[in-house]
Amino acid sequence: MISQRLTIIGVGLIGGSLARALRAAGACGEIVGHGRDIANLQLAVDLGVIDRFETDLRNSVAGADLIVLAVPLSAMGGILAGLAGQLAPGVVVTDVGSAKASVVRDARQLGDAFPRFVPAHPIAGTEKSGVGAAVDGLFERHYTILTPVAETDGEALARVRKMWETVGATTVSMEVEHHDRILADTSHLPHMLAFALVDYLARQDGEEPFRYAAGGFADFTRIASSDPVMWRDICFANGAAIREALKGYMNTLAQIDRHLADADGAALLDCFSDAKQRRDRFLSEREAAIGKAQDGMSDE
Ligand code: NAP
Repeated sequence: MISQRLTIIGVGLIGGSLARALRAAGACGEIVGHGRDIANLQLAVDLGVIDRFETDLRNSVAGADLIVLAVPLSAMGGILAGLAGQLAPGVVVTDVGSAKASVVRDARQLGDAFPRFVPAHPIAGTEKSGVGAAVDGLFERHYTILTPVAETDGEALARVRKMWETVGATTVSMEVEHHDRILADTSHLPHMLAFALVDYLARQDGEEPFRYAAGGFADFTRIASSDPVMWRDICFANGAAIREALKGYMNTLAQIDRHLADADGAALLDCFSDAKQRRDRFLSEREAAIGKAQDGMSDE
């Protein structure tokens, strides 16, 4: 049993999918949901994702031995401030935020309870939001990155690791800054590119670009359907690393532009061949590492 009473703060795509997976594994006694939107929380009860909900933070965490924060990054600070001084000894708190340095900063507000805060990030998701989008098996054969800091309590870390492994994730540990740099390159940058491409085309005259856009465009821009608030928050939380990634990418684009200007077919071919080879290798390595082919379900 991972938890006798688990509180999920933010019962949306990630919080709801985690609750579903833990329930399916028989790993929790009671699951309590916390949020602001009664309709979403009632839907979570109706779908069997949570047992009951509370909208008052103090009531939500009363008697809980494990608390998972699955709210947008901009809401983490307020929730953590609200939890400060409320936690009984031994209660473990963790989060699922897509950037880690900002959450760790926010979590320092927990004071004496900070060592029992375990920063975590499941590298799984979709472009959808809300508990209606929560699915079974979302985390199976996906990584969850844990980013403990010097103060993090070993037992709390082990418990959170066990929680993620119980729902089928492969856990790895990483330093906070390293996580934020890697995710800027592999997740945050692609989202910037997808949003920017759709925005760029939307600013052209008329509907023609969209009328003739086909599967490649739809594949490339699927993640531009992600929640804008969540992505604004990620930009604020990890802005410096995202700007570095953008800078590197723009250099590569500038290089391609030069090859075009020079009509340098050999250089273009080199670039495209190297990229194809690396992507094909990435897909087979990924499948071998986590036993799952690319299935469009792993946004992060
Ligand atoms: P989501 O589906 O929109 O769920 C977030 C939930 O948080 C909502 O149901 C909302 O419910 C609740 N919420 C928002 N503000 C709140 C507040 N101030 N107090 C209490 N509850 C609040 O979003 P999500 O995709 O699950 O993302 C949640 C977290 O997971 C984010 O930190 C994100 O960075 C991270 N993450 C997302 C993905 C992904 O692919 N989507 C992957 C990995 C990690 P109410 O409206 O009822 O308050």
